[in-house]
Amino acid sequence: MLILDCPCCGRAADETELEGGGEAHLTRFGPGASDDDFERYLFLRGNPKGVHFERWRHAYGCGKWFLAARCTTTLEVFGTYAAQTTAPPPEIVAAIKARRPNWEAPV
Ligand SMILES: [Zn+2]
Repeated sequence: MLILDCPCCGRAADETELEGGGEAHLTRFGPGASDDDFERYLFLRGNPKGVHFERWRHAYGCGKWFLAARCTTTLEVFGTYAAQTTAPPPEIVAAIKARRPNWEAPV
């Protein structure tokens, strides 16, 4: 069972309390964006086998959104952090590197 620590209320929430929100750290382009950039924002998502950054909502808890780094194959959780974060925090990257030395952060 997937269990994530909600950084907003501090509770460990199991997957029955959570609602997935898809990939984290998407780049939203402005009104002058090209069609390709707009298509990428709307439709194209990563589907990695391994480390993935995701949006989650503590739907049956505090109700707030947060971000999580986890492995899609093992469900290993590397950490959770605030939804307002635009890139994975250094402590999350360090936790991933400690367990997956060959992992490279997505550009
Ligand atoms: Zn919460």
